[in-house]
Amino acid sequence: EFSSVSDLASLMNVSVNEVISTCMGLGLLVSINQRLDAEAITVIADEFGYEVSFTSAESELEVDEVPETEDTDAPARAPIVTIMGHVDHGKTSLLDFIRHTKVSDAEAGGITQHIGAYEVETQGGQRIVFLDTPGHAAFTAMRARGARLTDIAVIVIAADDEVRPQTEEAINHVKVAGVPFLIALNKMDKETAQPDKIRERLAKMNITVEEWGGKYQCQEISAKKGTGVDELLEKVLLEAELLDLKANPSCEASGTVLEASLDKGRGYVSTVIVERGTLKVSDIMLSGTFYGRVKAMFNHQMKRVKTALPATPVQVLGLNGAPPAGDRFKVVAVEREAREIATKRNQMLREQSFRTRKHITLDEIGRRLAMGSFKEMNIVLKADVVGSVEAISDALQKLSGEEVQLNIIHKSVGQISESDVLLASASDAIVIGFQVRPSESAKRLIEKEEIDVRLHSIIFDLINEIKDAIEGMLAPTVEEHIRGNLLVKQLFKVSGVGKVAGCEVSEGQVARAHPIRVIRDGIVIHQGSIHQLKRFKEDVQEVKQGHECGVALKDFNQLQEGDVIEAFEKREIKRKVPQS
Ligand code: GDP
Repeated sequence: EFSSVSDLASLMNVSVNEVISTCMGLGLLVSINQRLDAEAITVIADEFGYEVSFTSAESELEVDEVPETEDTDAPARAPIVTIMGHVDHGKTSLLDFIRHTKVSDAEAGGITQHIGAYEVETQGGQRIVFLDTPGHAAFTAMRARGARLTDIAVIVIAADDEVRPQTEEAINHVKVAGVPFLIALNKMDKETAQPDKIRERLAKMNITVEEWGGKYQCQEISAKKGTGVDELLEKVLLEAELLDLKANPSCEASGTVLEASLDKGRGYVSTVIVERGTLKVSDIMLSGTFYGRVKAMFNHQMKRVKTALPATPVQVLGLNGAPPAGDRFKVVAVEREAREIATKRNQMLREQSFRTRKHITLDEIGRRLAMGSFKEMNIVLKADVVGSVEAISDALQKLSGEEVQLNIIHKSVGQISESDVLLASASDAIVIGFQVRPSESAKRLIEKEEIDVRLHSIIFDLINEIKDAIEGMLAPTVEEHIRGNLLVKQLFKVSGVGKVAGCEVSEGQVARAHPIRVIRDGIVIHQGSIHQLKRFKEDVQEVKQGHECGVALKDFNQLQEGDVIEAFEKREIKRKVPQS
C-alpha cells in the first residue's frame, strides 16, 4: 500500500502514461509520484489483469512467529487479567489487596516499586498475572494498536452504588474486544450494599449472572476486608480453564510491550509481557522500529532475573528506543536482521504518514459500497439525555439491513470524551453526537486519529444522513460549519437588555448574524440567535479570535460563567455521488 503511480507502473511493466490514463478512465486524477491506497491499487491492477496481495513489515514479523496451532501440545500458561470499572468502585483497593496478600514471596511486604503488572499465586498454587492498567481508555488504546493482551477482564461494581456510565463503558470496551469478563460486586461489607439491585440492572443490559441462570460469573467481595477475593480468583481460573490458554516456552520469545520510558541512569526501560517462548538476557529483541540486546531483566518485584517464561511481566533494559504501549516484540537470531527490519519499518512509517485518511468516514462509505467492500458500520453514539440516546439508537437499529449492518458499539449520555474517540479509533467507528460536543482533549484526539464525528441537533437529519450514507448516495445539500466559539467569562446586568455576557472569542470568529448554540459541559442547552454584539460599547457585526466582547442572546437569560456560545453557519455543499 502507498506505492506511487510510477512504482505501480514499473511493477506491472507498463508505461506510467498508461496507468495515468487508466486512472482517468476510472475517475481518478493522479500524478506520477502520487501514492495510492490499497483500494485504488487493487482496482488499477485489475484493469491490467493483475491480482494484488499486500504485505507489511508487521506481517513479515507475524510470519516468523510460530503459528498458534503448534501450541496445542504446549503447557498451560497463566491468564492475564485486567480490572476495570467506574471510578471509586474499588479497582485500586482490589488490586492492592491482591498484591499485598497474594504475591508469592516472603519479601512481598517490602515491595515499594512495581512494574505495571504482577504475578500472584492462588491458594491452589496457580498463577494469575494482573495488569496494572485499570483505565479502560488505556485498555482500548492498547487494542487500537492491535494488542490483545488481556485474556479476562474483571468488572468491579460497588454494590452500594449502581451501574455507572463508566461501568457500561468498560463492559462495552471488553465486549467489543471479545474478552470474556466476570463481575465483582464490591463493598459488600457496607450495610447499604444492594447486590441484587445491580444484578437486576445487569440483567436488563443482557448480562445475566450465573446465580440467576445466566452465563456470567459473579462474585460478592469486599476489597477492604478481603472477603470473597479468594473465590474471585478461583472464578478467574475457571474462566481461564475454559479459554484453554497455552504457550510454548521453548521457542524464541515474543510478546507485547506494556510501557517504555527513558530512565536517566539506565537508558531505555521497557516493561513487556512474554507471551510465548522464553526471553533471556543477551537475546536480541525487536519491537516496532527499535531493537537491541537485552542487557538486564527485572521481575515484578524488581529482582534481577535471567529468563522470563510465557505470561511473565518483566522490565527489560537494552532496547535503543521506547516502543509505544501495545506494540509487539520478538526475539531474532542475529542483530543484523533486527537492524534491517527496524530500518525497513522506519521507511514504511514515513511513507504511511503520507496517507490522507486513516479511519472510515461517511463519504468513504459510499465509495466502498460502490466497490462492494463495505458490510458493517460501527457507531459510537453520544447524546444529551437518555431519551435521545434510546430514540436515536432505536431508529439506527431499524436502518440496519442486509446490505450494511449497523453496530452501535457504545451509547451513552454526556459530552464526547477521549475514551469515546479511542473506542471509535480501535473499532473503526464513526462518532455521532446529538446535542453534545467533544471535550478539549477529545477534540485533539479526533484530529490526530482523523475520526469522522457527526454533530446533530435534529434527529430526523441525523437518521437521514446515516440512511443516505448506507444507501451509498451521500449527497447532503446543506452542511453545518462551526464558525467560532465564545467563552463566557463574566455576567453583567444591564437595564433594558437583561443579562449581558462578557466573552472572549476562544476560536474562529463570531458574527452577529450567525445562529448560535449554548453549550454547558459539552451538552447543548439552548439554540437561538444573538441579540446584541458589542465591542467597547459599540455595536459590531463581527469579533475575531482572541478579542473580547459583550453578548446578549435573544430569548435566553440563563447564561453562566464557563458556558461556551458556539456560532455556526449553514452552507450549501455539492458532493459527488459515488457511481457503482
Ligand atoms: P477505584 O477508583 O475504582 O480504584 O477505587 P478505590 O480502590 O480507590 O476505592 C474508592 C473508595 O472506596 C476508597 O475510599 C476505598 O477505601 C473504598 N472501598 C474500596 N473497596 C471497598 C470495600 O470493599 N468496602 C468499603 N467499605 N470501602 C471500599
